[in-house]
Amino acid sequence: MHKTIEKNLARVSRLVDEDVQLSEQGFPLFNWLELSPIDTCNRSCVFCPKTDPSKAPNQPHVMPPMLYQKLADELKAINYQGTVMLAGYGEPLLSKHIVDMVSVFSAVCNTEITTNGDPLNKRKIQQLLDAGVGKIVVSMYDGPEQIDHYKHLFSQANAPLDSYILRDRWYGESEEYGLKLTNRAGVLSFGEKVEKLHHHPCYYPDYMMMVDWNGDVMLCTQDWNRRIKSGNLSFNSLVEVWQSKLLKRYRSHLHAGKRDLPPCNQCNATGTLHGKKQALLWDDYYADKQINIKIVESE
Ligand code: SF4
Repeated sequence: MHKTIEKNLARVSRLVDEDVQLSEQGFPLFNWLELSPIDTCNRSCVFCPKTDPSKAPNQPHVMPPMLYQKLADELKAINYQGTVMLAGYGEPLLSKHIVDMVSVFSAVCNTEITTNGDPLNKRKIQQLLDAGVGKIVVSMYDGPEQIDHYKHLFSQANAPLDSYILRDRWYGESEEYGLKLTNRAGVLSFGEKVEKLHHHPCYYPDYMMMVDWNGDVMLCTQDWNRRIKSGNLSFNSLVEVWQSKLLKRYRSHLHAGKRDLPPCNQCNATGTLHGKKQALLWDDYYADKQINIKIVESE
């Protein structure tokens, strides 16, 4: 595994696994809220479903201000202690609302962006910093020469060293592109070489929410099929969806190591790198409510 992947896992672990916020009702709240600001990307990377328009076409949709303001208001109301990650199914910096989104969410919580870096320039970096961005995570897909380019750019913008991360992602197929390669819940045959995990728990639905541009809430960040939706945030609240029966059902199966429901039955993501603490808290909460689910150790 590349060092930057390990560093990123450790960083996310600090954000996700150390402090778990409980709701007033006693269940663990999500602490990683990933939003998809736009459904378009300017790149076409072989390991990304966006390479196949039949599966993940570029569409000119952006998350509207009314929706993201509603989400920020809800996060404020629950005194949200987690992170909002602006990434999702496209290149977030292509959204015309991105600086406003950062400003709206940064007023409430830690807000980060993951970008391929192409739309970055000195002015954009300064705007994002002024808006309060917590971290700009740049995935560099072209080559090591990008390190100097981005260091120079961030320095020109007077960006503090801890305001950005440069991730090396330029490696070839033999090094799995510098990624933790997965088949994106069965969407990519490309990641199929990673063994499927039929009997292995997964904790994604215990700690994270993945929200599409139109407010649809997906099962997890791996699900590029976008078929399993636990609600829509234009009509439901974040907390309503988080407690939904559908997510309860998935947690129940996944804690028992059963990946039998779609799209988990096609998925080869490890799923247990983060979120075990939340999974155990969900078990306790459901046990109190006499809903019997239990985590089993992975095989
Ligand atoms: S098993 Fe895969 S598809 Fe299912 S919740 Fe986990 S990461 Fe998502």
